[in-house]
Order: sequence, then structure tokens, then C-alpha cells
Amino acid sequence: MNAAEALCMARENGVHVGIAGTDLILDANQEPAPPVLEALQRHKAGIVALLTVAESDWTAEDWQVFYDERAGIAEFDGGLPHPEAEVRAFECCIVEWLNRHMERSDPGYCAWCGQLEEESDCVIVPFGTESHGHTWLHHHCWQPWSQKWKEEAISALANTGIIVHAKTANYPQTVKKERQNDRTRKRTQTGRT
Ligand SMILES: [Zn+2]
Repeated sequence: MNAAEALCMARENGVHVGIAGTDLILDANQEPAPPVLEALQRHKAGIVALLTVAESDWTAEDWQVFYDERAGIAEFDGGLPHPEAEVRAFECCIVEWLNRHMERSDPGYCAWCGQLEEESDCVIVPFGTESHGHTWLHHHCWQPWSQKWKEEAISALANTGIIVHAKTANYPQTVKKERQNDRTRKRTQTGRT
């Protein structure tokens, strides 16, 4: 058995395998069967390598394809006017980017202000989804945290050639594909404020 086969076996047994750094994260409805755990353990390094490649960044072209697809769906299936369909597509790109890049954190402390749960007056709760993992934050820390990540996303997406015209301080009003030579200028516009 190799790493890919071990990964297949886990999936067939209802175990979703993700990675956090060099660790495997198992997500399953019940305790995985011992042979599955054994296989994952034995091929851990190989599985981490496989998943790292699988989860690595999309190319600019991948983003463009994703963007065009979403814009097409919004316009032709959703009946939105073209400019709005583009805005919707860009929002989809932001969500996708965040799912791929946003930091995950462990329970017990706030990922934004760093305060430990026991030192804190208010509870620290998980944000995110089962499939993409959680980030633990104070409720009042969620807003600045999500704002920071949204800006990161917009800046990164601008760099792929999918450009936001509106300033990031205001949520993008219109978006448009730009040629490569426009990227640098636009990128500075979409930088953090
Ligand atoms: Zn906090």
C-alpha cells in the first residue's frame, strides 16, 4: 500500500483526511477502524505531501476560469445583469480564496487578540465550517479579523488579474478583468488601509 491507496482507503471508510502543517486531521462520524488508522499512520508523510500539492494555490488561470464560470452562472442561470454577475463572481472568488487560505486555530485562545479563554470575560467561539476548519475568536474580534482576511483575499485576487475597481474600504461595487500591466497599480489600491 502507498500513500494514495491509504488515503483512498480512509475515504472509502468515511474518514475525511485534511492537513494542518505536517499533521493529519481526521474528520469522521465514528472512530476510524484500526486498519485505517494504521495505514494513515504508516503513510503519514506521503499523505501530507499529497494533500499539500492538492491544496496548493490555484494559478491565475484557475482563478480566471472559476471567476468566468461563476459570472456565467449568475448572468445566464441567475438572470443578473452583467455588472452584478461580475460582482457576484468576485464574491465567490473571495469565499473560495478564504476557504483555501484563512488561518485555522486551536480552541482555548482568540486568534485575533491572542487572549486565553481563562483570562477572558467573554467566550471564545469557533467560526468557519466543518469541511474547512475553524478559527476560534471572541465575538467582538470576529469583525476586525474577517475584515483583515477579506482585504488579504482581495489583494491576492487582484494579483491574479481579477481586479476590484472600488476601494476596499467600500466593498467592491464593480469588478472587471484587467490586463496584466494594470496589476501593480491596482494592487496598491487594494492594499490594506
Ligand atoms: Zn479576541
